[in-house]
Amino acid sequence: MNVIFIAPPAAGKGTQAKILCEKYGLLHISTGDLLRRAAKDDLGLQKKLARGEFIDDSIIMELLKKEIDSINSNVGLVLDGFPRNMNQAIALEDMLQDKIVIYIEVSENLARNRILGRLHCKECGATYNSIILENQPKIVNVCDNCHSTLIKRSDDTEFTFNNRLKFYTEYTEPLL
Ligand code: ZN
Repeated sequence: MNVIFIAPPAAGKGTQAKILCEKYGLLHISTGDLLRRAAKDDLGLQKKLARGEFIDDSIIMELLKKEIDSINSNVGLVLDGFPRNMNQAIALEDMLQDKIVIYIEVSENLARNRILGRLHCKECGATYNSIILENQPKIVNVCDNCHSTLIKRSDDTEFTFNNRLKFYTEYTEPLL
């Protein structure tokens, strides 16, 4: 079994993907993580990601294909962030058998707050949100668990969120 998510930005795909992986022994593949890893050696890609710009299908598909090829084919996968448009969905038909699609709905306002307030602890991996009350750390910008300073991902901006949402509405939502 392979699982695919279709969901707007900040719908909680990553969180749900982790839960599914733990419960069913599946492997989580996040195209966002693959891209960020590839961008470490690619300044052009780094800039595009930071601005939330469109990344060529060919780049994403090459990274994903390499990752899938490197994995034991008996393991079910959870794809997080792919497919994001019709072109990718068609390519996926040949890449993976037996797919289940999960759609997650989220309001634009909640999604925006999740992205703009998102904080994480580099030391212990805990996550917080400076805007959403129940996820705020007890002390501003300090991790409850290990007291390290919390950090914000550089691409979690209003500008980037708007770009991501526009892209979702135009290209990903039609897949439903
Ligand atoms: Zn911590």
